[in-house]
Amino acid sequence: MKTIQSVDEMQALVNGVRANGKRIALVPTMGCLHEGHCSLIRMAKAKAEFLVVSLFVNPTQFAPNEDFDCYPRQLQDDLLQCESLGVDAVFNPSVEELYPRGYSTYVTEEVVSAGLCGVSRPAHFRGVTTVCLKLFNIVQPQLAIFGQKDAQQAAVLKKMVRDLNLQLEMEIAPTLRDADGLAMSSRNKHLSASQRGDALAINRALGIGKTMVEQGVRNVDRVVAEITHHLAQHRRVRVIYVQIVDRDTMEPAREIVPGRHLVAIAAWVDEVRLIDNILL
Ligand code: AMP
Repeated sequence: MKTIQSVDEMQALVNGVRANGKRIALVPTMGCLHEGHCSLIRMAKAKAEFLVVSLFVNPTQFAPNEDFDCYPRQLQDDLLQCESLGVDAVFNPSVEELYPRGYSTYVTEEVVSAGLCGVSRPAHFRGVTTVCLKLFNIVQPQLAIFGQKDAQQAAVLKKMVRDLNLQLEMEIAPTLRDADGLAMSSRNKHLSASQRGDALAINRALGIGKTMVEQGVRNVDRVVAEITHHLAQHRRVRVIYVQIVDRDTMEPAREIVPGRHLVAIAAWVDEVRLIDNILL
């Protein structure tokens, strides 16, 4: 497995791979790999002949008051994990390599990114689209895999790929959960045992919403109220949003259509910001 920090070196490598007619897949991550990431990597491995995983904590998607500095990092463990999964190349550039002094170009998707996390994290998706477009240009993959866990991110990136005519197939992998139901996330490392207990309310609340819809409820406000009520029972949980939206456009639903909508939750569990969602 090659471990590459330089853009030039990464581009030279993939130019050779493409010249040999091999299909390249990219799994972009911020590192601190967990089983959720591994499931994306395994899926990519099965669908391509050359697999690149990027490990890069992208500063442009964090606001100045957010957790960029204390975002968990564990490069050596991540490299071992990638090696064991048969990754061909890890791309882990420095911040200066991707954003050299004087860097001034950003990509903005303006509709899918506007609601949900776009409200509470106004510059977040601009950072995500910018770094992903850069990674797509550097690695030139035919396939990129993202997780449903970050439903809005996946929808925004799909829209960018379509709008900018990128020759890239995007696949979205299902959310992996721990045995207790908590969606796997690098940020879970910051939860104490009791905070984790409260964080479980998020998945349970999603389950309550899903059950209501399975029982025939189509009224958005009723489902949102029930979910919000469940979350409010937990002292450490502060809701940022509970919304039912179209799974592709992230537009708020008027009436629930199973197969089309999802419930998305963002909440603080004390100082840890968690997101999760469930397809209805
Ligand atoms: P991150 O390192 O958090 O930026 O995540 C990298 C990729 O892994 C993104 O496409 C995420 O949506 C995906 N991902 C994160 N957590 C999970 C999970 N629990 N299950 C599946 N995919 C995930």
